Amino acid sequence: MNRVQGKVAIVTGGSRGIGAAYARLLVAEGAKVVIGDVLDTEGKALAAELGADAAYIHLDVTQTADWAAAVAFAVKTFGSLTVLVNNAGIASGAAITEFPLDMWRKTLDINLTGTFIGMQVVIPEMVKAKGGSIINISSVEGLRGSAGLHAYVASKFGVRGITKSVALDVAKYGIRVNSIHPGLIETPMTKSIKAADLQIPMGRAAQPDEVARMMLFLASDEASYSTGAEFVIDGGLTMGVPHA
Ligand code: NDP
Repeated sequence: MNRVQGKVAIVTGGSRGIGAAYARLLVAEGAKVVIGDVLDTEGKALAAELGADAAYIHLDVTQTADWAAAVAFAVKTFGSLTVLVNNAGIASGAAITEFPLDMWRKTLDINLTGTFIGMQVVIPEMVKAKGGSIINISSVEGLRGSAGLHAYVASKFGVRGITKSVALDVAKYGIRVNSIHPGLIETPMTKSIKAADLQIPMGRAAQPDEVARMMLFLASDEASYSTGAEFVIDGGLTMGVPHA
């Protein structure tokens, strides 16, 4: 299948976890992929595994210069830039009265400001290409509260919000911007969380490739009429469980 044939993507935080699943599926479905991350060893190994259709670049999403270099690298290596998956993120938690300010700032900087800078830098290339798809990775914590996860919740609500404001700005250029809201996905980020401790109607965590299939739909032209929208993939976690 070649559902994203001819497209060129940047996937941030693409060295491992769900980001690596995005990179793998995009390549399998015909796209060229630039993997950006701060984990250089893992990122280079993944790009080598994926072959000529993938390349790795060091991309700290909080750094505008890294973004500019990554966009130039994608265009030079693969000819254009038409898909951005803003996936890089960190989680942090503490009670509100003890939440360290530097942890708040770092979480907002990576999860929200990183997504903002990425869209700023990538959109001019998508305008040149006469269209594109931006997929911002929010969370179920961008839809509801979660005790202790104050900075993470704020960042993911923020990602959900700027997805819509940017979608409004760029619809006229044929650029779609959507958010994905995963529930519990098995990755290094969630290794200490047990599915049994959450009220998941489907009774299990998901694997990264289950989220990747949603991303693939949004990256492809199959999602031609979807923009500014929220795509939830959470095993029913946020639908509301009326009875025990
Ligand atoms: P992982 O921690 O496994 O992977 C995230 C990747 O992003 C890591 O390689 C990480 O590197 C990298 N990263 C961290 N900071 C930066 C930065 N400044 N610039 C570039 N890359 C960076 O996380 P997941 O795969 O689980 O999560 C991916 C995304 O999905 C995140 O945005 C997360 O919030 C979201 N999500 C995850 C869920 C889950 O259940 N796993 C649920 C809902 C949303 P390093 O190890 O150095 O931090």
